[in-house]
Amino acid sequence: MGDFNGLRAVITGGASGIGAATARHLLNQGATVAALDIAPQNAPVGVAGVRCDVADTESVEAAIAEAVERLGGIDILVNNAGIGAQGDIAANSEEEWRRVFEINVLGIMRVTQAALPHLRISAHPAIVNTSSIAATAGLPERALYSASKGAVHALTLAMAADHLREGIRVNAVAPGTADTPWVGRLLDNAANPTAERAALAARQPHGRLVSADEIAAAVAYLASPVNGSTAGVVLHVDGGMDSLRLRP
Ligand code: NAD
Repeated sequence: MGDFNGLRAVITGGASGIGAATARHLLNQGATVAALDIAPQNAPVGVAGVRCDVADTESVEAAIAEAVERLGGIDILVNNAGIGAQGDIAANSEEEWRRVFEINVLGIMRVTQAALPHLRISAHPAIVNTSSIAATAGLPERALYSASKGAVHALTLAMAADHLREGIRVNAVAPGTADTPWVGRLLDNAANPTAERAALAARQPHGRLVSADEIAAAVAYLASPVNGSTAGVVLHVDGGMDSLRLRP
């Protein structure tokens, strides 16, 4: 039990990686939690798995309605569902560009639109979006993904401004490369997974991948009613990758 006693949290992409770690963290701090995911059967124990495709408006509206029924309302929304893409500006088809934006950017719009009426009647409403180091640092072979996360970064600030005076705080986390099933899949597909993992770890000033639990703790900080003056913040959880320049 903790800061989140009696609060109800909805987490998109809550069945894996960062979303699942956040679900477990909030649950341990006293929240009741729903994971809205295309794979709801993988939701952590104690978390309500709700089928939801954030790329589909009908699916989102049904999922928010089901979450409200199961939790009794929504106080915290974590817009975390996302997919990746690799390559330079020429690498991805227009269809792939649309698909990534449908999930990573328009997904936030759909879920937030559906959740807003419930957040507006909460005593402690908060939204946390999942951005990325790719929003603020130029990473090779990530043109489409970076464009989508740059949009998430900007959208977070605009949402924070729009909803602050009605009491809804909006913030984001910007993780560096994190040790999740997503990155596991990327490594599995690399020519030399051990060398690729070492290169990703070395790229971050603290010399390792970020853990999903570290990002979950940052999400919880931003969502907690204890931190009611924290709004419009994009909190980097990246071992210093965004702001530090260490000597090799
Ligand atoms: P993950 O693949 O482990 O988990 C993503 C979850 O999202 C999965 O449960 C998946 O089923 C769900 N999902 C995918 N498409 C969906 C859809 N259309 N509707 C609903 N759910 C859907 O990935 P992760 O590493 O935990 O990433 C989570 C978020 O963190 C993403 O937004 C990602 O861009 C961001 N991020 C990840 C890293 C990293 O290095 N892993 C770094 C920075 C930001």
